[in-house]
Amino acid sequence: MNKRIALIGNPNVGKSTLFNVLTKMHQHTGNWTGKTVDIAIGRYKNLEIYDLPGTYSLIPHSKEEEVTSDFIVHGKYDIALIVCDATMLERNLNLVLQTLEVTNNVVLCLNMVDELKNKKTIIDYNTLSSILKVPVISVSAKNKSGIDMLIKTLNNFKSKESYKIKYSPEVEECIELFKNEKISRFEKIKNIIDGTNKDINSYLLSLNINPIDSIMQSIYSECEKIVSIVVKKEKNKVKNKLDKILTNKITGIPIMLLILFIILYISIIGASYPSDFLFSMFNKLKIFINNVLTNIHLPRIIINFLMEGIYQVLTWVISVMLPPMAIFFPIFTLLEDYGILPRIAFNLDGYFQKSNACGKQALTMCMGLGCNVVGVTNARIIDSKRERLVAIITNSFTPCNGRFPALISIISIFFILKNKILNSFVNVAIFASIIIISILITLIVSKILSKTFLKGEYSFFALELPPYRKPNFIKVIVRSIFDRTIRVLARAVVVSIPAGIIIWLLTNLSINSHSLIYYLTNIMNPFGLIIGLDGVILMSFILGFPANEIVIPVMLMIYLSNNTMLDINNMNEIKNILITNNWTIKTAICMLIFIVFHFPCSTTMLTIKKETSSTKWTLLSFFIPLLIGVILCLIVNVIFNLASYI
Ligand code: GDP
Repeated sequence: MNKRIALIGNPNVGKSTLFNVLTKMHQHTGNWTGKTVDIAIGRYKNLEIYDLPGTYSLIPHSKEEEVTSDFIVHGKYDIALIVCDATMLERNLNLVLQTLEVTNNVVLCLNMVDELKNKKTIIDYNTLSSILKVPVISVSAKNKSGIDMLIKTLNNFKSKESYKIKYSPEVEECIELFKNEKISRFEKIKNIIDGTNKDINSYLLSLNINPIDSIMQSIYSECEKIVSIVVKKEKNKVKNKLDKILTNKITGIPIMLLILFIILYISIIGASYPSDFLFSMFNKLKIFINNVLTNIHLPRIIINFLMEGIYQVLTWVISVMLPPMAIFFPIFTLLEDYGILPRIAFNLDGYFQKSNACGKQALTMCMGLGCNVVGVTNARIIDSKRERLVAIITNSFTPCNGRFPALISIISIFFILKNKILNSFVNVAIFASIIIISILITLIVSKILSKTFLKGEYSFFALELPPYRKPNFIKVIVRSIFDRTIRVLARAVVVSIPAGIIIWLLTNLSINSHSLIYYLTNIMNPFGLIIGLDGVILMSFILGFPANEIVIPVMLMIYLSNNTMLDINNMNEIKNILITNNWTIKTAICMLIFIVFHFPCSTTMLTIKKETSSTKWTLLSFFIPLLIGVILCLIVNVIFNLASYI
């Protein structure tokens, strides 16, 4: 007799591998009830196997999950074959317990058992089977072992009452109220979660019980309990201890901040020496090239255009960007590879939950520290569309590597202490505080978005802590230099050339003895002054839209064109230029704010448009950070003005 088997499981548990082994790739795809997501159907002798999209839960967060949930709850099948990753049983059991609420016809397939040995883990399959009251088969889809037993079990399957989880007495009471309805226990629970019955709703509300929280809590603690009975682990004491410290409520966050501080310290202080070297080298080279060009009798105006326009911006970008990037990216990639970043997400999960956003957003923010384009693209790891949009819109709040040099130069110019060591320490602390503020504002804005444009609650997700892996240093260095450093630098260089040309033209073309840039910056000046900046700064941000890296060099070029061309030989001379142009500590603070909160660069904007396929969200991603920047600068400006009156 033909049997229809619904194959389900969390993503990445080896479901497709098993499906292909079972069906030997003889599959065709079809649609389930008009949904756009495909379900592959394959056959092994009398078994017709429906490969459903991977899901963590039957309470769906995405379209794919909805397809699976819909099929399991309403579809026609004889057995639900749940594939679990045996090495991560606790997380996988969530789906198992939920499915058992829908049907008794379940076979549990623990895959990847070949990896258990490496992880020094033993699972008591018999006990698991007797707790859940369903067959449990161990297989290794990759090594094609255990498959015969699985097929035999599916063929001989006999239905009997399976294990049902016990929820809190209040929830059980509510489930009882549906006893006359011919629906599964899962649908009753879903009704309670969805609040379809007003009486139940107000009853739970009066007891201060949030149904989804209470139900998920029961499931999670049940998973934990079952695992504590059936899984025996010979623990790696050192790594376990490390995890305990890194993800501990008290020590987790301070250690994360310390890691952030150390990375920034090494990047900033370490970069200042090669930066100075590159500056002076490019200056010597400039004199040499100038001489060569003069000797070949190139017209003065062309030499000026090449050297003061293109060369100036280009060499600035390389001198200030290359060293911190070449240090930051490899360290960052090492942390990523070692498995530290997911632990950071784990520590921040609670805070994101309070903001009704997803803990995985912390991971996208970490990526954003490197480059916002990567951060926005990586938001795909967030299943819920609502939470993904929150992560995308707020990603540019995290200052990317391209903005580091601007932040560093403003901090090191305006916040100086006499003691050199103390000075660098304070500079890095200010930088780290800026990142912490950007995280706080991300949390606040995520909360506001979740209450307004993107209404909704935090969706539960099982955050997996991947094992620590020893990174391959050579690979990391090669990858971070070629994949990241060179790519980001190349983009900055490509953008800085046309920017240099535009600035040169704007500063050299004049009407009525005033340059074009003079008129443009004058138009913007009143608005700039209201928010503690000036017209030149605003103009530089607009010209820096293609790449944030060029904002400061562009700004300096405009200032210089107003002040009979000074040369920038080192970072110290920049301060003179800024002070001559009326910069004060207030301007510096507003500038730091505006570097973090303005609009995302053009590449990030294009990526946001691509990822959201929506003009509305793309525009919001542009204007929200800009609005925050303007408001914060306005506040700082008002405070300083009031202080000057007192
Ligand atoms: P799906 O997302 O559930 O469809 O998972 P895939 O079939 O794509 O498998 C995810 C990864 O797990 C792939 O790299 C597979 O090669 C690997 N994998 C699948 N089955 C096994 C197994 O039995 N043992 C091991 N060690 N790896 C497996």
